[in-house]
Amino acid sequence: MIEEENWQNGPKFLCDGPDSWPKNKVSDVVGEDQRKVVVSMMTQKVKVPSDDEWRLEPSRFSSWERLRRVTAYLLCFVNNCRSETKNRECSKILTNEEIRDAENYLVRVAQEEAFSRDIGDIRKGRFVGQSSVLKTLMPRVDEDGVLRMSGRLSLIETLPYDVRFPVILPRKHALTKLIVRKYHTDANHAVGTNHILTKLNEKYWVIHGREEIRECENNCNQCKLMKSKVGEQVMTRLRRTLCNHSRQGSYEG
Ligand SMILES: [Zn+2]
Repeated sequence: MIEEENWQNGPKFLCDGPDSWPKNKVSDVVGEDQRKVVVSMMTQKVKVPSDDEWRLEPSRFSSWERLRRVTAYLLCFVNNCRSETKNRECSKILTNEEIRDAENYLVRVAQEEAFSRDIGDIRKGRFVGQSSVLKTLMPRVDEDGVLRMSGRLSLIETLPYDVRFPVILPRKHALTKLIVRKYHTDANHAVGTNHILTKLNEKYWVIHGREEIRECENNCNQCKLMKSKVGEQVMTRLRRTLCNHSRQGSYEG
């Protein structure tokens, strides 16, 4: 009954003056603790992943192109998270610039992992240490933060920038292995170590590059398969030749 009266006429205190209305028990002033909770919840909602949280592990990828493209998409996502809504960009087709940024990012991370002390020295304007593998390469850090070699070819201004200042890649790093494998695969597993090294040096300088390429060739399943097929064909021909010789020998005897 009371509920029906409330439904039709509203609460009784509305018939009286505002002075007799019940006081609002909810405080308009947010306490320090409540403010902390609100800020914490807001921070959680718009939390931007740090570089360590989203960084991809190159050893989990089977190809350099795939790693580069996935990283490019992730970089777009992270940049959008860090931008205001009106400045966010989202395109399904990656631009050359976005792919190049992803490549530079991946290379920078690999170089930091392998040559952090040397990069620190270079940034401070010092020479790299006497025991460093970079000491003969005249290394420099470019405006994108990428470590590059500046040898004799750097003096020839007519050459492309990447040939004059090839990107230095560390030996045995997962990223280096992916890049070397790309060159090996692009050559259809058919050319020798020197050819791959020459093509590679048009853009990169791999520490102990020849050994890195040989390791790639020795571990390549496609190459192993091709070699085993060639071996089988040689053995089959050899067996046929031996059989023919033995038959001829038996007739002559
Ligand atoms: Zn191969």
